[in-house]
Amino acid sequence: MQTDLEALLVLQADDVVIGELETRLSALEPRIRELDQRRQRSLDAVARSTAAMSAEEKKQAYVRDKIAEHKQLIERNQAQMDAVTNMKQATAAVAQMEQARRIVATEESDLLVINRKLDEARGILHTQQTELSAIEAEQEVARAEVAGERAAIDGAMAVAKQARDASAAKVPAALVAKYDRIRSRKRSEAVFAMRGMSCGNCDTSIPMQRRHVVTAVGVIELCEACGVLMYYQA
Ligand SMILES: [Zn+2]
Repeated sequence: MQTDLEALLVLQADDVVIGELETRLSALEPRIRELDQRRQRSLDAVARSTAAMSAEEKKQAYVRDKIAEHKQLIERNQAQMDAVTNMKQATAAVAQMEQARRIVATEESDLLVINRKLDEARGILHTQQTELSAIEAEQEVARAEVAGERAAIDGAMAVAKQARDASAAKVPAALVAKYDRIRSRKRSEAVFAMRGMSCGNCDTSIPMQRRHVVTAVGVIELCEACGVLMYYQA
């Protein structure tokens, strides 16, 4: 027949296993975060380049439209030239046409600059997209590894929790409640074997008048100094 103390120690051992699994599970989080952050940086770079490229493409389309418009204007001026009847009209038409030609020349040189920038932007974007693909391919292995570890831990956790439930059922409910309350104060362990006549956790010596109670077989006492459960080990 198992004493309450023995049952409680089994329960504590189960909780230690669960605690270790929780630690392993939370250790996976920074690994996932790191993978996500690296991928996100790459995605952000691609998004920035794509936005820069589409802005440049808009400029390109605008300048192209303007050039077409001004070339039409030159053509119209040309037609007017053919229809002029005097010198004054001819001079005016020539001046207009030359102005339009100068505008077109400026716009064409602007267009060259834009085209060059676009080429560069396309090159950068291509490099970044290649990098992103490489990161994703590389991460596929790492992510599968993390997912595998998580699944293994989850599986072990389910088993450990079942074992814990079974162990807890063998300890009187009031004692389990006391034990859980102590553990909820961020302790991994709540039950300690005494070291001689002192608390195994905080080393406070047990007062003389309590020693005969504490050392009786199977007794579980609360340490008045640190609040853990303790038992005497002969
Ligand atoms: Zn203590």
